[in-house]
Amino acid sequence: TKVTKDVVLQRAETLGVKFIKLQFSDVFGTTKNVALPVSQLEKALDGEIMFDGSSIEGFVRIEESDMYLKPDFDTFSLIPWQSENGPVARLICDVYGSNNKPFPGCPRVNLKRIIKEAEAMGFTMNVGPEAEFFLFERDQEGRPTTNTRDHGGYFDLSPIDMGDEVRRSMVVALEGMGFDIEASHHECGEGQHEIDFKYANALATADNIVTFKFVVRKIAMEYGLHATFMPKPVFGKPGSGLHINQSLFKKGKNGKEVNAFYDENGKYKLSQTALSYIAGLLAHARGFCAITNPLVNSYKRLVPGYEAPVYIAWSEKNRSPLVRIPARRGVGTRAELRNPDPACNPYLALAVTLKAGLDGVKRKLDPGAPENVNIYHMTREERLQRGIRSLPTNLSEALDELEADDLIKSALGEHIYDRFMEAKRIEWDDYRTKVHQWELDNYLATY
Ligand code: ADP
Ligand code: MG
Ligand code: MG
Ligand code: MG
Ligand code: MG
Repeated sequence: TKVTKDVVLQRAETLGVKFIKLQFSDVFGTTKNVALPVSQLEKALDGEIMFDGSSIEGFVRIEESDMYLKPDFDTFSLIPWQSENGPVARLICDVYGSNNKPFPGCPRVNLKRIIKEAEAMGFTMNVGPEAEFFLFERDQEGRPTTNTRDHGGYFDLSPIDMGDEVRRSMVVALEGMGFDIEASHHECGEGQHEIDFKYANALATADNIVTFKFVVRKIAMEYGLHATFMPKPVFGKPGSGLHINQSLFKKGKNGKEVNAFYDENGKYKLSQTALSYIAGLLAHARGFCAITNPLVNSYKRLVPGYEAPVYIAWSEKNRSPLVRIPARRGVGTRAELRNPDPACNPYLALAVTLKAGLDGVKRKLDPGAPENVNIYHMTREERLQRGIRSLPTNLSEALDELEADDLIKSALGEHIYDRFMEAKRIEWDDYRTKVHQWELDNYLATY
C-alpha cells in the first residue's frame, strides 16, 4: 500500500468529505456497503468497523458473525456525483473474521492469496477488462424493460443520440474516480455499449470492475434508463461479455517490469511462459467456466453465431476461439480470454484464471497449434479429429466440471467453493424445474 492513513485523513478533510462508504463483495460479486459519518473515518481506517457477517450471502453462520472491515487505503476515492448531504467517499475493504485474521470467504482476500502465489513465481498479473452492457428503458413504474432507446420509433434521431450522451456521462464519472478510459463505443447490439479502461494489476482491476458496474448503473438511472450486465438479455441479439485481457510481468535485467509474455525470438514472438499460460487456460476452461460464467443465462450467450466463444482453442488471428492473442507485441502482449461475462464476481474470475494460467506455466504445458481457421465452419467430426473440446453448455454441466477440477477448487478455497456450489445447484434446480414458454410453444398443442 502506497497511500497511508494520514494521507487518507488529509484528503478527506481537504475534500470536505461528510460520509464514508466501506465497500466489500459477497461470494456472488454483489457489492455491499456500510455508510459512516466522517467522524468514524479514523476508526474505519484502523479496521475497527464491525458488521454482522451472517446477514451476507455466502459468508458465515450466526455463531461466528462478528466480522471486521479492513479498508485498502489505495482505494480511497470520492464518489463523483452530488449528494444533498455533502461529499461522499468510498474505500474498498478486505473482510476479517472475529479472530481478526483475513476471512477466507472474502473474495478479495482470496484473490490476494492467488496473487501471492504468482509473486512467489516472480510474476505480477496485469488485467484489462472489456465490459459490455445494455441500456434499456424503464417502464412507468420504473421497472427495467428490454426496450432499447436506439432503435425503431417515431422520433429516431434524439433517442439515437441518447446512448452516446449517457455513455459520455459514464466516462466523465469514471474519470472522476481515477479511471484511465481508453475507449468507449457502441457495441454490435442495439442499445449495447462497451467502455474500456486501462489495464492494471489483478487486484486493482477487480476493484475497478466492481466500481465500473456501480458507476454505469447509477448514471444510467439518472437518465431514467437501466444498465444491465446480464449476459444475454435478448434472444437473437449479441450477449454481453467481459473479455479478460491478461499478461504476466516480471522484473527485467535493470529491475524494471517487463512483459513476460513477449519474446522477440519466440514462436509467434511469444515466450514459453505465454504459451504455457495459454495452455493452462485451455486445460482448465471447463473447470473455471462456472465462475467466469455463473448464471443460468450465461450459457445462452455461449452459442455459435455471435462473437462469443464455444470451443476450447486459441488463435492469433480470428475471434472465434476461447483465447485470442491480439497482434500487439512488446508491453501490450497479452492473452484475451473471451468467455467470461460481466455477471461474474471479478475477484473470483481473476483468481481462477490466474491459477489456471500459472498451472500451465508450472507444468510447462503446450497449447498446441493455434486454430486460425473459423472453428464454427468445421463439422463436428472435424472438431473431434482436431481434439477441439467445447465449453460447458449449461450451468449444471459447468458445476460438474468445477467439481471435477481440484486446481480450480483450490483457487477458490473450501469456504467459497462450498457456498458457491451450494447456491448454484439450487439456482439450477429452480430453473430446471420451471416450465418455460418455449416448452408451451412447442409441446402444448402437439402432445
Ligand atoms: P479488443 O481489440 O478486444 O476490442 P480493447 O482495445 O477493447 O480490445 O481492450 C484491450 C484491453 O487490454 C484494454 O483494457 C487494455 O488496457 C488491455 N491491455 C493492454 N495491454 C495489456 C497487457 N499487457 N496486459 C493486460 N491487458 C492489457
Ligand atoms: Mg485505484
Ligand atoms: Mg473491445
Ligand atoms: Mg466488445
Ligand atoms: Mg475484446
